[in-house]
Amino acid sequence: MSINVYICETTIKFIKMKLKQILVVAIITGFMFSCGADKKSETGETEKVETTEDFDFNVEQFADIKVLRYQIPGWEDLTLKEQKLAYYLTQAGLSGRDIMWDQNYRHNLKIRKALENVYANYGGDKNTDDWKAFETYLKRVWFSNGIHHHYSNAKLKPEFSSDYLKGLLADTNAALEGEAFDVIFNDEDAKKVNLTKDVDNVLLSAINFYGPDVTTAEVEDFYKKKVSPNPEKPLSFGLNSQLVKENGVLTERVYKSGGLYGSAIDEITKWLALAQGVAENKAQGDALGLLIQYYNTGDLQTWDDYNVAWTAATDGNIDYINSFIEVYNDPAGYRGSYETVVQIKDFDMSAKMSVLSENAQWFEDNSPLMAEHKKDSVVGVTYKVVNVAGEAGDSSPSTPIGVNLPNANWIRAAVGSKSVSLGNIIHAYNNAGSSGRLKEFVHDDEEYELEEKYGQIADKLHTALHEVIGHASGQLNPGVGETKETLKKYASTLEEGRADLVGLYYLYNPKLQELGLVDDWKSVGKTAYDGYIRNGLMTQLIRLNLGDDVEEAHMVNRQWVSAWAYEKGLADNVIEKVTRDGQTYFNINDYEKLHALFGQLLKETQRIKSEGDYQAVEDLVEGYGVKVDQAIHAEVLERNKQFTGAPYSGFVNPVLVAEKDDNGDITAISVDQNDTFNGQMIRYSTDYSFLPSEN
Ligand code: ZN
Repeated sequence: MSINVYICETTIKFIKMKLKQILVVAIITGFMFSCGADKKSETGETEKVETTEDFDFNVEQFADIKVLRYQIPGWEDLTLKEQKLAYYLTQAGLSGRDIMWDQNYRHNLKIRKALENVYANYGGDKNTDDWKAFETYLKRVWFSNGIHHHYSNAKLKPEFSSDYLKGLLADTNAALEGEAFDVIFNDEDAKKVNLTKDVDNVLLSAINFYGPDVTTAEVEDFYKKKVSPNPEKPLSFGLNSQLVKENGVLTERVYKSGGLYGSAIDEITKWLALAQGVAENKAQGDALGLLIQYYNTGDLQTWDDYNVAWTAATDGNIDYINSFIEVYNDPAGYRGSYETVVQIKDFDMSAKMSVLSENAQWFEDNSPLMAEHKKDSVVGVTYKVVNVAGEAGDSSPSTPIGVNLPNANWIRAAVGSKSVSLGNIIHAYNNAGSSGRLKEFVHDDEEYELEEKYGQIADKLHTALHEVIGHASGQLNPGVGETKETLKKYASTLEEGRADLVGLYYLYNPKLQELGLVDDWKSVGKTAYDGYIRNGLMTQLIRLNLGDDVEEAHMVNRQWVSAWAYEKGLADNVIEKVTRDGQTYFNINDYEKLHALFGQLLKETQRIKSEGDYQAVEDLVEGYGVKVDQAIHAEVLERNKQFTGAPYSGFVNPVLVAEKDDNGDITAISVDQNDTFNGQMIRYSTDYSFLPSEN
């Protein structure tokens, strides 16, 4: 599955069903939330680290879309061979770009080619409202890989007339006729994926996975008859084909060399073979070999063999996703959308996490937990952050921020899965805004400056501590059941809050400096505490509508941790609620005492977990985490109004430029960040156009 908001591994299962709702919340407000990591809800006011210096994450904005760019930290640390591997994998990915366009809708490629022809050749007045509307429409089509909105699935509405488009087409000798022209303006094929209750979802979805006359019942009937040779290891029937009627008989048109999309697939495998030639190790190379074989044959047994091999191939600095993967775009849930993500290990985060992991026992021994709740032998949780080097297909320009694959449940059970969060993508989201929102909600200049200077490192360390140490810490009392049985619906928020608290407890601690993770532990700790409280008591409320309760597990826990600490510290004025010019701020007066309070709450949450104390978790969560102070909420929403931007974001890819010697051998590969959105889209359409308009 792909994770469009980043969620830590422990909560993936819980959240899977709720993903769509959460995604809506995150996208509407333009914020990402991560498991424990993003204590700050402000986008774009974190510290500028080395790689971030002077880097402009913003490309442009149109309609409801904000286009950003991302950096590839660590690129220079790769060997040329590793760079080649990443380069070949991105080329393989881009070679299949048009597959996604055709999968999305049968007229997409025809329409795109006509619109791009107009865009490139029109010599008339480009200052009119009509032309601007045309350009915006084309950008929206580019962004969505077709004429349906990438997120809502509704057909995009042009703000120019059919006569205007006819004129443009005539002026540029471009052809677009019949259904492909009419559909831009009429009500046909209104939804790419139609999931409305009580209608025929396959029949009414415009997605090109099925012939236009195929019904849901026919699809179900067709796959009911398919039997896997080994029922313990069910094949992914329907994953790599289109299902159409030929002479009234249902037939699969398989995506493979020589089959449907064969001309693009041959380009993909050409690059995959080059990648295989520079594989980092045998396991990785063998997996690539199986992927090529799968593309050549379309054989679903080979697909499973590949997934087993790919899942087991965990060594190396480069990894990738490439194929027909997620089935969200199929109303019947069989067919995979083409996508690719090329990933480089995040060396910085990996180094931090291994330091923490090596010292996991120290953190356990020195935690404020009751002795009987501490583990004698604790092992840090393995958690992977990668940086993206290139994306295509379903994951571009709109991208997930985490991925957990493979999807086949039996492989996940037998071999495991790879779960990664896309660090540089999340970083770009978090840095694309202005510092305006931060300025609005900080109490004073010191708080602002600390955030600017240490926000980034505090954020990364909190993520690492939360994931590696937090989720690994503590043990249940003998005989006490799993928390989903004892704490029921509060299990998730308690666990996330507990992991957050482990992070908070150690973020304000000289041990981090001793381990070489920070150069000023006190400033990093203060920054982390400021950010957590500011978010938990105020800024995360911008994600909610006035009157709503807090519901999402991480948001709930950030509020109960913050609100509990605020209340318990009232007598000592640990956190002060300040009203200035009618506006509210929370200022931390005593970091030492707040540290002690976090420790106290950590001890209590571990006790609740270890004993399975349902009454206590209910009191904690309902008492502090769910209900919102209406006056503060209204105030926060009002103050935030000035900062709201486009609700959806996506990315142009950095361009990997290969320099070659006289023999055509690659001597160096550099990263070019100068692509514009339009420029990149046109270039992709020119350089990676391997399919006919009709397939
Ligand atoms: Zn977590």
